[in-house]
Amino acid sequence: MKKAEKAHLKRVAEMGCIACERINYFDTPSEIHHIRTGMGMGQRNDHYHVIPLCPNHHRHLPNAIHQSKRKFEAHFGTEVELLNIIRGRL
Ligand SMILES: [Zn+2]
Ligand SMILES: [Zn+2]
Repeated sequence: MKKAEKAHLKRVAEMGCIACERINYFDTPSEIHHIRTGMGMGQRNDHYHVIPLCPNHHRHLPNAIHQSKRKFEAHFGTEVELLNIIRGRL
C-alpha cells in the first residue's frame, strides 16, 4: 500500500463509526470497510472507497454490513450515501 493510501485510511478510521454516529453514538473506535458497490468483478479494492465502521457494525451485529448488507443499509443508509458523507469531511 502506498503511503498516501495508508494516511487516508488512518484519517477515515479516526472519524469514528459512521453507523454509530447515525444513532447518536459518537467517536466509536472503528475499522475500515471497503465499498464494493460500483466495483467490477475482479477489480481491485480502491483504498479511497472506504467508510469507518466499528467491529459491531462491520462484522458482529445481525445488521452488520458483512452479516446483512440489506439490513445494514435499511438502518444506516447505503454504502454510497455513507461514503459521500465521509468524503464531504475530507
Ligand atoms: Zn458502530
Ligand atoms: Zn468490510
